Amino acid sequence: MSESSEAVARSVAERFERLYGAAPDGVWAAPGRVNLIGEHTDYNDGFVMPFALPHTAVAAVARRDDGVLRLHSADVDDPVAELAVDALAPGSDRRWTAYPAGVVWALREAGHAVTGADVHLASTVPAGAGLSSSAALEVVVALALNDLFGLGLRGWQLARLCQRAENVYVGAPVGIMDQTASACCEEGHALFLDTRDLSQRQIPFDLAAEGMRLLVVDTRVEHSHSEGEYGKRRAGCEKGAALLGVDALRDVPYAELEAALARLGDEEEVRRLVRHVITEDERVERVVAFLQAGDARAIGPVLAEGHASLRDDFRVSCPELDLVVDTALGAGALGARMTGGGFGGSAVVLAEEADVPVITKAVEEAFAAAGFRAPRTFEAVPSAGARRLR
Ligand code: ADP
Ligand code: MG
Repeated sequence: MSESSEAVARSVAERFERLYGAAPDGVWAAPGRVNLIGEHTDYNDGFVMPFALPHTAVAAVARRDDGVLRLHSADVDDPVAELAVDALAPGSDRRWTAYPAGVVWALREAGHAVTGADVHLASTVPAGAGLSSSAALEVVVALALNDLFGLGLRGWQLARLCQRAENVYVGAPVGIMDQTASACCEEGHALFLDTRDLSQRQIPFDLAAEGMRLLVVDTRVEHSHSEGEYGKRRAGCEKGAALLGVDALRDVPYAELEAALARLGDEEEVRRLVRHVITEDERVERVVAFLQAGDARAIGPVLAEGHASLRDDFRVSCPELDLVVDTALGAGALGARMTGGGFGGSAVVLAEEADVPVITKAVEEAFAAAGFRAPRTFEAVPSAGARRLR
């Protein structure tokens, strides 16, 4: 464990002790994620390729056996929330506490005897930036409870339960990528995940060793109003699959793309959605092949292609995301694309190390010239997935 995560663990544990009057049983961490490629494929049974950020949600937790669940976040100006585990009900909570309470609910609903806990957490994952602060929150709590109650669940099983918490308890129709990334990613790797059966492969992704960098540019445009648009895209994909007679768009082979599009007749909008999903799955496979061949530079154009598809076919980009991508590519980036669901959030930029200052400055200047809020840029190093810190 690095010195800094040791310091974070200690300070979160100390705050726990001041809040609850006793030391926690342990401290756990779960990261946010960035998706390298494979966007809007996870609810089409397709491929995604996230990696974990160094930014984490850190939770100090103590087991309780009296049915009481107490929750506190250092990042929210609320007193400790006290809930009864057997009274947890989906849709009953509109605050942040729905995420950790939802995890307890999902575990209990799946038959696991989770009898209460005291939780204090703090997170460095920026919320609402498309970097999955919500999954980090869910997974860190799930992992802590898994350990404290000896549940013996694997990372992918915890991810499924966290997704259920977010889908049913919180009421957000998210796919399985974020939770799996937070639970299962490994340092120095991207996670090639098949969202149909959750089979996974760790793909070496160490750009620094090859003189490259991956930047995350947070546009600071909140993607909070995107739920209706997300629902429309999702329904359009389901309609496409039904019209093509497959369970999910994942089942249409890339080689049959043109024939499939022709079969969609005058369904112009569905055709665009279908084209994005089928080509995006193929892009993920191409990126995996390049990385496994040790040719990370070659993924740049694939990222740029992916952005064009999200902008023109899936139509989930926004002027700020397009400006990051166009400016970065114009300033010499190897590739760039929006990442996450869209309508704001963040973009990723792949660049030679030496070009990073020029690209960063070009993006900042372009945002100022356009009258947009200043973006926040940081370097994303593929980091470890969820783990116990102490
Ligand atoms: P994203 O996952 O892309 O960051 P979401 O809208 O899915 O965005 O999740 C953000 C929500 O997660 C916040 O509105 C808040 O309810 C909860 N959240 C995230 N981080 C924290 C934190 N440190 N403390 C409390 N709640 C948090
Ligand atoms: Mg989220």
